[in-house]
Amino acid sequence: MKAEIIAVGSELLTPDCLDTNSLFLSERLTEAGFRVHLKTIVGDVHEDIAGAVRAALGRSDLILLCGGLGPTEDDLTRTAVATVLGRPVAIDEGILQTLRERFAARGFRMAKINERQAELIQGAEVIDNPLGTAPGMWIEEKGRHIVLLPGPPREIKPMLERTVLSKIRSIAEGERLDSRCFHVTGLTESELDSRIAPIYTAYPDVNTTLLAGTRHISVKLCRWTKSGETTSKLDELAGLIQAELGDSIFSARGEFMEEVVGQLLKRSGRTLAVAESCTGGMLGMQITRVPGSSEYFLGGVICYSNEAKMKLCRVPREVLHKHGAVSAEAAEAMASGVREALNSSIGISITGIAGPGGGSREKPVGLVYIGFSDGNHPESRHRIMPGDRDSIRERSVYLALSWLRRKLL
Ligand code: AMP
Ligand code: MG
Repeated sequence: MKAEIIAVGSELLTPDCLDTNSLFLSERLTEAGFRVHLKTIVGDVHEDIAGAVRAALGRSDLILLCGGLGPTEDDLTRTAVATVLGRPVAIDEGILQTLRERFAARGFRMAKINERQAELIQGAEVIDNPLGTAPGMWIEEKGRHIVLLPGPPREIKPMLERTVLSKIRSIAEGERLDSRCFHVTGLTESELDSRIAPIYTAYPDVNTTLLAGTRHISVKLCRWTKSGETTSKLDELAGLIQAELGDSIFSARGEFMEEVVGQLLKRSGRTLAVAESCTGGMLGMQITRVPGSSEYFLGGVICYSNEAKMKLCRVPREVLHKHGAVSAEAAEAMASGVREALNSSIGISITGIAGPGGGSREKPVGLVYIGFSDGNHPESRHRIMPGDRDSIRERSVYLALSWLRRKLL
């Protein structure tokens, strides 16, 4: 069954306010078995709200509106919906009484304009709002369902849990969304797509999406199944994609790279130390995000200056003099130095030019070296990262983790 969300509020059309309600609403609707196929944002304009509701009635089984139920002149959702349905609006004595009591309990007298919040569209069922003054409404219209909710997220959430979700589940038809998600590393989005598109295009009833972030790429497979139907199509496609991508997939369970690296370190019984220059501790931060990282992570140093590289990681002065702080030799010496200083099995280092200044022709902004030392001859790799300072630093951390994973596989 199809659901759509209409967020009402002129503030949502400005740069100051974001529609966040539809995020948790769509999550809960999907869980309940509804396909959220459209979201609309409209301002506090009677004709715009009415137009959105009219259109929604022509294409959706369930329509959730949020916002515009307040007491002021710009709160128009009630009257706009009533107009579209051709139903009158009338003050509900029960709601009015509850409102008066709620104001009285806080020591206020209810203002006249608040009476508008007791207006009920004919035939609507009241949805109690325990944390606010505007009650919600559930309306059935020729087999379609319209739900009116207030705007504030803290009011909507308890209304969903207490009343709305169970009603939504009761009209759902037992469909569910099955999904698989792969986190992929080491391929560009186009390389990845050229390898898997021939596979997933043969499964048109599975919705396959690629989502590239600054870190990894996610491949998400989704399919709606009716109750009683099996998930074999989805499993079949997932199996084919896994076979094609092999260990370019670093997680089939939604884990992040630092978690996967942590599991590999734990399993192999090895310990890790890090030496960071341009990332200033970000690598250590990512690694220690994972609960239990103390089992394998010993610590790290932020050796930002040449002095710190020499003193804390025993990088020879000649290396810095001859090759510079951003070089394969410096990265390798940092990795070995921190490994020895902390007596870990593995040392990893990052040194690079995060910009925006400090680049040259031979060593441009974005040039980053990763060093690796495990007691054998140290190694390094380098890459020229795109983007601004933040994303160069973020990508460097990810490259270091990703390379460490390869080494541990
Ligand atoms: P309203 O019920 O329209 O008076 O909304 C009251 C307040 O709820 C607004 O000022 C917003 O701060 C918040 N709000 C309304 N709609 C949304 C939305 N879609 N997402 C997040 N916050 C919202
Ligand atoms: Mg509003």
